[in-house]
Amino acid sequence: MQPIVVQASYFDGLTAKRHAVEVIVEAGTGVLTIRSGAEDLVHWPLEEVRRLRDVAHNEMTFWRKGDEAAARLLVHPGDASKLVVVLPNLDSRDMTRAKWGKIVGWTTGALAAIYAMVFWIVPALAVQMAGFIKPETEASIGRAALHQIEGMMTSDSDGGWFCDNPEGVQALNRMVGRVLGDQDIGYDLQVRAVDHPMLNAFALPGGQVILMRGLIEQANTADQVAGVLAHEIAHVAHRHPIEGALRTAGSAGIISLLLGDASGGTLIAFVSESLVNASYTRSAEEEADTSALKYLQDAGVSSQGFANFFDKLVEEYGEGMLPAWASTHPPSAARADQARAQKTAGTTPVINDADWQALKKICD
Ligand SMILES: [Zn+2]
Repeated sequence: MQPIVVQASYFDGLTAKRHAVEVIVEAGTGVLTIRSGAEDLVHWPLEEVRRLRDVAHNEMTFWRKGDEAAARLLVHPGDASKLVVVLPNLDSRDMTRAKWGKIVGWTTGALAAIYAMVFWIVPALAVQMAGFIKPETEASIGRAALHQIEGMMTSDSDGGWFCDNPEGVQALNRMVGRVLGDQDIGYDLQVRAVDHPMLNAFALPGGQVILMRGLIEQANTADQVAGVLAHEIAHVAHRHPIEGALRTAGSAGIISLLLGDASGGTLIAFVSESLVNASYTRSAEEEADTSALKYLQDAGVSSQGFANFFDKLVEEYGEGMLPAWASTHPPSAARADQARAQKTAGTTPVINDADWQALKKICD
């Protein structure tokens, strides 16, 4: 059998330096060799190699069971598939509570280990953990976050900022019904507007989508609002908010420990902040865009509004001064082009003009 040889990046767990390495597996040796130039850096027994499923990076991360230095090997997905076939225990769950305790107790150690936890281990776990969270727990996390966000953005937090003009609410509901059709997104979707001038929209765990007054006011057409709405609904359908909340909670939890903040205040603030700023990964944004365009297409609504909205924002604010939603959703030409490429023939406005006028007054 020919040896398997792939290029990869290696972090030794002691320093933050990225080493360009060659990974070699020769038949019969039972080990994976990580080589830099002519020097063998380390040998990992094949049955001890584990992988992390990482949403934030475009590479597969391998590590060695029981490796106290938390060394990591990052491999491009195409090359990783060559290695995967010779690694028998990749997904074994052998991180016991005692081992976690040891790692957490070890914060005085190498910065690289903390870096690895915040950027690799926690993101990977967040996706797995999201699968274990009960719907009612997720809904209560969403409510708590919304409560916190209201407190952060207004002077109170008693739900008083919801816009409830009846005609406006009906118009919004008709828009949601049109965009979503009868698709099942796995949640009881709840879309509401809040009385805040920020040009923003965000999704929360448990199926809530919030549109801020500033977004509705600054849109030129109902289709522009529908584009943003479809994108946020897609985040809900893909469970991005709960994954994001868990990822932030994990990372913020580590930072709270380092800061000695045992009250959890830092943690709640971090989670809410990350949700309202919709700081998802690039791949999550692409996933949301793709689904949003599909919702619009299936609904017979033009996606030009989505493209035009990005253009309008860049024109009015300039690249550097974009409002919240747009600055966390960088308007790349490729994204706008993707939206523009959908056919417009046979599409109709997402809601009629009377409803659009009513929606603009939802906060009156
Ligand atoms: Zn997004």
